[in-house]
Amino acid sequence: MSDHTPLPWVVEPGPDGMVWVLSEDDEANEGNVIAETEGPDRVVNAAFIARACNLHERMRDMLRRVEGLGPGGDCPVCGCTSGHQDHHSDCELAALLRDIDAAEKV
Ligand SMILES: [Zn+2]
Repeated sequence: MSDHTPLPWVVEPGPDGMVWVLSEDDEANEGNVIAETEGPDRVVNAAFIARACNLHERMRDMLRRVEGLGPGGDCPVCGCTSGHQDHHSDCELAALLRDIDAAEKV
């Protein structure tokens, strides 16, 4: 996956009532619009896109750190003890990390 446009992303009014999501550093993205939202939820949707993207990498990295913060380095959610390769099948932390890994392959 190639690098995305540098963060942070911000929300600004666009033309004709649309709302844009842009890089805060216009030069980083040559002033291109990252996303454009329309409709009655355009402001909150653009804000959600920017907020989610701005926080994504920090949340992912923190979840990976949390994975080994249980007693003795175990998973604090399921308690697995084998280096996190064998989370219990219902471990929500492992499922979330798998979903993040899969989404990042796009
Ligand atoms: Zn686990």
